[in-house]
Amino acid sequence: AKREGRSIIKVFEPVMLYSRQLRSQMATELRGAISADELVLHYQPVVELATNRILGVEVLVRWQHPLRGLIPPDTFIPLAEEIGVIHDLDRWVMSASLRQLARWREDFDLDPDFQLRVNLSAVELKQLDLVDHIRTLLRELHLPARNLVVEITETAIVTRGEVEMYSLLSLQQLGVGIEIDDFGTGYSSISYLRELPVSMVKVDRSLLVGLNTRAGQLEFVAAILQLIRAAGLEAVFEGIETREQADQLRAMGCASGQGYYFSRPLPADETGTLLATTHYL
Ligand code: C2E
Ligand code: CA
Ligand code: CA
Ligand code: CA
Repeated sequence: AKREGRSIIKVFEPVMLYSRQLRSQMATELRGAISADELVLHYQPVVELATNRILGVEVLVRWQHPLRGLIPPDTFIPLAEEIGVIHDLDRWVMSASLRQLARWREDFDLDPDFQLRVNLSAVELKQLDLVDHIRTLLRELHLPARNLVVEITETAIVTRGEVEMYSLLSLQQLGVGIEIDDFGTGYSSISYLRELPVSMVKVDRSLLVGLNTRAGQLEFVAAILQLIRAAGLEAVFEGIETREQADQLRAMGCASGQGYYFSRPLPADETGTLLATTHYL
């Protein structure tokens, strides 16, 4: 449903302007992009709204294309899913970002509960060796499992296949945080919120549109926050772009959020500088 929901608002994105030929050329190039070391990771801080303290960072992949420049993930992740490259891509992101976290932990005085938030595609949750892969990486890098949170879209979780449930339960047992991403964009029932082994819910940024202008939107968002809380889960809001939005969410008692108002996603070196110099934004 995420894909469908997105395609409605994605009409004018560059990917739609690509010709068939260019798409097939990009597919070939994308297959080689990982080994050619063309993927780069950016990091967006997630903050505690009450204090602006940095709780962690979300890992967001980009493709540094030798000719086309920096390509955003909305353009190539769907392509990677289509041509079956997403598995290698997600594994690369997991491993590279955990390595980065290990370096930051050595170099800076990170909070022991610092969260590295990694997006996982629906396909990954179906891989029987996903949890072993993560467990091995954490062990090799001497990282506590609580430093990792995986973000998985609502649609991927709600199908509740056997392997998906096995993956979620094993990750939870390992101590990795599990978050439902893009909450509010799918067509799922809400009863699953109380049944799934997840600990956090990230409310999709589309729900913040018109927060201070559209009649009833503030009440609507407050009700969603209540719902998430009533399910015993922690709510995170994404796409916070203005001070007003941050203030409103804080006033509602929402604990954490991220968005351009606090910081854009930053390259690794700038993220390092930020983590080295301040714990607050
Ligand atoms: P997402 O997981 O919902 O990530 C949040 C997106 O919102 C990011 O876009 C981020 O740059 C953007 N964003 C952050 N703050 C704001 C804001 O204040 N306003 C607005 N308008 N946007 C904001 P980005 O980096 O282009 O990533 C797009 C999507 O690509 C992600 O959506 C995620 O679904 C996917 N993605 C990114 N990295 C990975 C990855 O390593 N693996 C997988 N499977 N998917 C990824
Ligand atoms: Ca995410
Ligand atoms: Ca999201
Ligand atoms: Ca999203």
